[in-house]
Amino acid sequence: MSHDPNCIFCKIVAGQIPARKVHEDEELLAFHDINPWAPVHVLIIPRRHIATLYDAAPGDEAVLGRMMALAPRLMRDLGVHDGFRTVVNTGPNGGQEVYHLHMHVMGGPRPWKRG
Ligand code: AMP
Ligand code: ZN
Repeated sequence: MSHDPNCIFCKIVAGQIPARKVHEDEELLAFHDINPWAPVHVLIIPRRHIATLYDAAPGDEAVLGRMMALAPRLMRDLGVHDGFRTVVNTGPNGGQEVYHLHMHVMGGPRPWKRG
């Protein structure tokens, strides 16, 4: 499935609900987390609906690599130069709440709310 009409992040991709976007390209979207844990907290998602990292297939390697490569670029653009965390929660035991693959990228001066 490339688009799930019930998925909140697919709705952001489709422009049906707003997000504070920081990056857009053919394959990826990045936007500020609505409930940030850190001074800078963005989510990087593939435009295409992939439910979890567990569901990623061999053909998804390129998009997974682009997500990882985008993280430092965004942190630079957002003025984060002293390190950041990248987190992908997967499935119920991984604490995943939104079932559209996303990478959390968190930075900025500590203390943070969580993590
Ligand atoms: P996870 O637990 O890894 O699935 O994290 C889901 C993240 O999505 C949480 O940090 C939420 O704050 C964030 N989130 C949920 N809805 C939205 C939204 N509409 N816009 C931005 N971030 C969201
Ligand atoms: Zn989705």
